[in-house]
Amino acid sequence: MPTKRLDKSSDAMFQPYYDAAAEQRFVLPQCGSCGHRFWYPQTSCPSCLSLEWTWRDTKPQGRIFSWTEVHHPFNEELTETVPFLVVIVEPDEAPGVHLVSSVRGIEPGELRVGLPVVATFAAPVWSDHMLPVFEIDPARV
Ligand SMILES: [Zn+2]
Repeated sequence: MPTKRLDKSSDAMFQPYYDAAAEQRFVLPQCGSCGHRFWYPQTSCPSCLSLEWTWRDTKPQGRIFSWTEVHHPFNEELTETVPFLVVIVEPDEAPGVHLVSSVRGIEPGELRVGLPVVATFAAPVWSDHMLPVFEIDPARV
């Protein structure tokens, strides 16, 4: 079985994100000083530079900010998965945060900026971790 080499983010700083996803929870870092939610986890808040931030449960809903369809398998693990869709999602509770993820259950021609999405959780072929994977949220279209 091939190693899932694409997932380089095994850094301990991401572990709470993976742990939450394994529990079907969507979390983002939130600053304890200014309240800013941000992505990705980093030493200090990118808004106020406070070192006091924690992982906060975040409503697993957002909107498509952008997307692309990948046709070239830039790694052998992806040879059988192309073409696939990569989306940038802006979570409803974190304006300005742009999370790179994937979307399923929709054809590329149906995607458009602003479509409402909701997170489900799955382990993509390229990762050893459960991650948020988005689907169109029919209740909010
Ligand atoms: Zn802050």
